[in-house]
Amino acid sequence: MNDLKKKNGSRIVFFNSLLEVTAADWEAMARYRTELGDLFCRRCEYCQPCPPGVLITPAMLYAIVAYRMGPGKAATFAEKTMESVRLCEECGECASRCPYHLPIPETLRKHLALYDEHRREGEIPSRHKASR
Ligand code: SF4
Ligand code: SF4
Repeated sequence: MNDLKKKNGSRIVFFNSLLEVTAADWEAMARYRTELGDLFCRRCEYCQPCPPGVLITPAMLYAIVAYRMGPGKAATFAEKTMESVRLCEECGECASRCPYHLPIPETLRKHLALYDEHRREGEIPSRHKASR
């Protein structure tokens, strides 16, 4: 048994045995590093809040969500988030707060174009309208 934490005198055990990192795990990690590059959002939320109300963090993750879920599902799943991107005024406040120096307004613009493309491909009618 691997005791990782004790709380209020009672034992909390997360794993029954130590996990081994296999060669396949290392390969997968290397693949993810290549796929993600340096320009990925760490979800720290230091960029928030956005004055007009863009849901920045989930919108920064749209390309990954679409890659994982597929375009049609992602466009429906992320509709509220991505419609909020239309409120962006490109003021740059968020980018000035990002500790990873991500080009947030540009990335949001690209993700919105991708989302619109996914909606057109899937012929998905809009339910959420961003309002100022
Ligand atoms: S650049 Fe856009 S997303 Fe960023 S704070 Fe300004 S309005 Fe919000
Ligand atoms: S500050 Fe940068 S890394 Fe953190 S959530 Fe915002 S965009 Fe992502």
